[in-house]
Amino acid sequence: MNLEKRVLVTGGTGLVGKAIETVVKEEKQTGAHEVLNETWIFCGSKDADLRDKVETDALFEKHKPTHVIHLAAMVGGLFHNMAHNLDFFRDNMSINDNVLHASYKYKVVKVVSCLSTCIFPDNVTYPIDETMIHNGEPHTSNFGYSYAKRMIDVLNRGYHEQHGCLFTSVVPCNVFGPHDNFSPSCGHVIPALIRRMDDAMRNEEKTFTVWGSGKPLRQFIYSLDIAKLFLWTMRNYDSIEPLILSVDEEDEVSIAAAAEAIKHALGFEGRLLFDTGRADGQHKKTASNKKLRSLFAPEFTPFHLAVRDTVAWFRDHRDTARL
Ligand code: NAP
Ligand code: GDP
Repeated sequence: MNLEKRVLVTGGTGLVGKAIETVVKEEKQTGAHEVLNETWIFCGSKDADLRDKVETDALFEKHKPTHVIHLAAMVGGLFHNMAHNLDFFRDNMSINDNVLHASYKYKVVKVVSCLSTCIFPDNVTYPIDETMIHNGEPHTSNFGYSYAKRMIDVLNRGYHEQHGCLFTSVVPCNVFGPHDNFSPSCGHVIPALIRRMDDAMRNEEKTFTVWGSGKPLRQFIYSLDIAKLFLWTMRNYDSIEPLILSVDEEDEVSIAAAAEAIKHALGFEGRLLFDTGRADGQHKKTASNKKLRSLFAPEFTPFHLAVRDTVAWFRDHRDTARL
């Protein structure tokens, strides 16, 4: 019999946390959890403000996790980052320091924390791999978020060297799916475009304006696909070295192509325009999933199907979604 695992998911109410919850529920129906002997606990900011050390410790005291998937963070799209770099840095530094120190104090066996492919150096050779995280300045648009995320890797190394802890990190590319943040000012490009284009349709507009040139390239992963990779990592990956969780390099799409896919899924019949007066952010951040593929055979939902399902979820949940 496996020893009981109590898995605490911080950020359990967000895009990735909800996707992990969905996959865990599906697994439960197969009875797999009795064999794995896992209990899952999903927490959001109402359970504890993880910027606060006392609240963080109380959360760990209450749940006594043996494993932690640490997702909680101040998260946002390009334009939210550009306007709030200081807040992104301070909030995420506090959250990460509190969660990892509580994990150490409460003797958590493994922590899987979350970096992002947007934290890599701006001036870099492609494809990006796991060895390049600290090799140069991040893009100026999101330096606060990037440096705070990079410090997770520094903390992981420190806890391993001084205390032998198995605290590791994964590096997702752009994620989207049900439960995303669809706010035009705060959200990432796919949910923001879905929301804004849906509004344009409701207002019977004949054109829709995509922000920026539409030329930047992104690797997008469906939240339910990355949720499965998080579960695999938590159960099987025993190194403190970061692991990129991304779709393949050839699956990278332009922002213009992503906007076309959303237009198709929504059924918008107007014309797309591009506002080049708005920022483009990083041109690309093409990441290699070679290391992941050497360990595991991931399955990725085709982009247009994931967009279709996300649009369907948004339409069904417009009243309760984050707008
Ligand atoms: P999200 O939907 O915005 O969810 C963020 C989560 O963090 C929510 O559960 C939120 O709780 C929680 N949270 C925020 N501030 C908190 C605080 N002070 N105390 C406690 N909990 C707090 O974000 P996501 O997209 O799922 O992101 C999950 C992780 O993936 C993050 O670490 C992010 O950096 C990383 N990531 C995301 C992407 C992407 O494209 N979305 C790409 C790469 C990496 P409440 O909702 O209850 O307030
Ligand atoms: P990033 O991948 O970290 O840069 O963040 P985003 O998910 O916010 O994507 C930003 C890219 O999408 C930039 O090239 C923006 O110019 C472009 N974009 C186009 N329209 C929108 C929009 O409505 N919201 C956002 N966030 N980005 C948009």
